[in-house]
Amino acid sequence: MARSFYPAEHFAPLPQHVSLLPFRFARLAGQELLVNEAGEYLFTPDGTTRALADGTVDVQSDLYKDLKAKHIVYDETSSPLLDVLATKIRTKYDHLSGATKLHIFVVTLRCEHSCHYCQVSRQTATKGEFDMSEATANRSIALMLDSPSPHVTMELQGGEPLLAFDMIQYMVPRAKEQARLRGKGLDIVVTTNLACATDEMLAYFRDEGVRVSTSLDGPAFLHNKNRPRPGNDSYERAIDGIERARTILGWTNVAALMTTTAASLEHVHEIIDEYVRRDFHTIFLRPISPYGFALKTKTKTGYEMERFLEFYKQGLDHILEVNRGGYRLTEIYSQILLSKILTPHGTGYVDLQSPAGEAWNVLVYNYDGDVFASDESRMLAEMQDWTFRLGNVHKDNRRSLFMSEAAMNMFEASCNQSLAGCSDCAFQSYCGADPIYHHATQGDMYGHRPTSGFCKRNMEVIKHLFSFINEDDPQTMGIFWSWLTDKPIAGPVIK
Ligand code: SF4
Repeated sequence: MARSFYPAEHFAPLPQHVSLLPFRFARLAGQELLVNEAGEYLFTPDGTTRALADGTVDVQSDLYKDLKAKHIVYDETSSPLLDVLATKIRTKYDHLSGATKLHIFVVTLRCEHSCHYCQVSRQTATKGEFDMSEATANRSIALMLDSPSPHVTMELQGGEPLLAFDMIQYMVPRAKEQARLRGKGLDIVVTTNLACATDEMLAYFRDEGVRVSTSLDGPAFLHNKNRPRPGNDSYERAIDGIERARTILGWTNVAALMTTTAASLEHVHEIIDEYVRRDFHTIFLRPISPYGFALKTKTKTGYEMERFLEFYKQGLDHILEVNRGGYRLTEIYSQILLSKILTPHGTGYVDLQSPAGEAWNVLVYNYDGDVFASDESRMLAEMQDWTFRLGNVHKDNRRSLFMSEAAMNMFEASCNQSLAGCSDCAFQSYCGADPIYHHATQGDMYGHRPTSGFCKRNMEVIKHLFSFINEDDPQTMGIFWSWLTDKPIAGPVIK
């Protein structure tokens, strides 16, 4: 006689009380995308949200089981699952512990370039009064190491920091010694255009374990157009500097970042091909920042966010083609967002954090000792807008910087969970708040999401990535996963 099994309900009785957990939703490609508090998502048939609200989802259906597994509903048997959800949410916000990790030192405002989009109100190359003093460097290093983070990154930038190389030579050993005494890990990066880099400077960076991050906007015609300097040879100097830096420091210690100007928009393939030709394995398709000198020269460099998004999508298609051809090239912004969508982890990327990463995860020490919540807020101050100046290294300590009126006002607008437009947005878990961007572009830290370039960019890019995820092409998803799991090669410091 054949032995039959009891039905599943014998072991797990049907739930009598179904409740909803917090989730947000959006319509995408004829389906509904549901996202839970930990950022886990589920594509469901059209009408699922209505059925959930009406309490008419069939508790015996596979859909119900999926909704339960994704922590969108719970019933009498769910209590262990709620602990799992709490753990997932804690993991997602792990980046909040041990703030602040990135510390930017404006070693000098001097620069010999005159880039149209420069975020710094740069000074001409001879003005020594725009260099950081030893006293300011000492206090800034002390404040950096007062951060609770057990491991901090010190980024030396300008202007062009190599014009104040003696100050770099003063700061690097001092920071390393102080970090050692306090038992902290320390990474040091110098952000330089490499135009003035001598072999001796590069050898110094090698000996001190300092990594190099530089700018490469694309092929010569574009790079030189974006980045004017005497002699119009910025590209030639950058390429020469990259090659020498790789030889002296090691290939993995040199990274490059690009900025998209209006002149770049028609050339996304050429820009990407330049990165491949120069043997880079990461590229960050970055829009121009609406701050500082970029704002003054808007007519030369600016464009609408819609146009950037076209550029970005064309670029991502081309990058996927490059990867399909066997050359691994990671697009950094997609990588950050895919990490948030597909893995349990948050990221340290400041612009896509809630609470916003400004101050919390990055601090900027200006050459004159003023402390800002981000590089962008320093740019605003150069334009006489002091809203995000937290204090000065010679008067303040970490507590007073974080308790300042400037910091408090900013923190109030820092959580997208409570911002109008974001609070019920399906993409909230992947996005950020960025009060400084909204203050700069809309005159209001809280911002108006329907007209926000920040919102438009993130909503569109996240939807675009979800369209790939929904399509589930094995090769494309394989490439995405390789971006998330492979060890990065010479990745830039991403603020
Ligand atoms: S900024 Fe826009 S995309 Fe981001 S969470 Fe807010 S509403 Fe959503």
